[in-house]
Amino acid sequence: MQQNGINNCLDGFIEHCKKHRLKITPQRCAIYREMIKLRHHPTIEEIFQAVSRELTNISYDTVNRTVGMFARIGLIDVVKAQSGPRRFDTDPRLHHHFYCLNCGTIIDFDFEDYDNLSLPEDMKKNHSILSKRVVLNGLCKNCREKKSPSSPPGDLNI
Ligand SMILES: [Zn+2]
Ligand SMILES: [Zn+2]
Repeated sequence: MQQNGINNCLDGFIEHCKKHRLKITPQRCAIYREMIKLRHHPTIEEIFQAVSRELTNISYDTVNRTVGMFARIGLIDVVKAQSGPRRFDTDPRLHHHFYCLNCGTIIDFDFEDYDNLSLPEDMKKNHSILSKRVVLNGLCKNCREKKSPSSPPGDLNI
């Protein structure tokens, strides 16, 4: 991402923190900035590795707690993969996910039809819905090519 893009993201970050009365500290800024730079749904471990290059004294626990707090105020999204550690999504735009069940890759995609999906009436009535995302599961291109031809990918044709 361009430097500019990161700065724009940081503006959004500062605004969001103010709205939720969260103090903006250099540590929190650094953690958020590294998350933006990592993109592609980093794990806590990956975020910690990246941040500790800049802030050598930071602890894993601090990174973990800070990222958890970002998620609670809706700044980032927790992505629940089928297996493996939690991952985090820093892209605030409405987008959808494809999970590879073999290698765990999460791929972002846009699809207007999914954006416009209507919500079930009783969900709307009983809860307040804050976001919406469609998740597709399967085998990614790489994993599908690696599978032997004798085991068909078993695509789901909806
Ligand atoms: Zn894969
Ligand atoms: Zn995503």
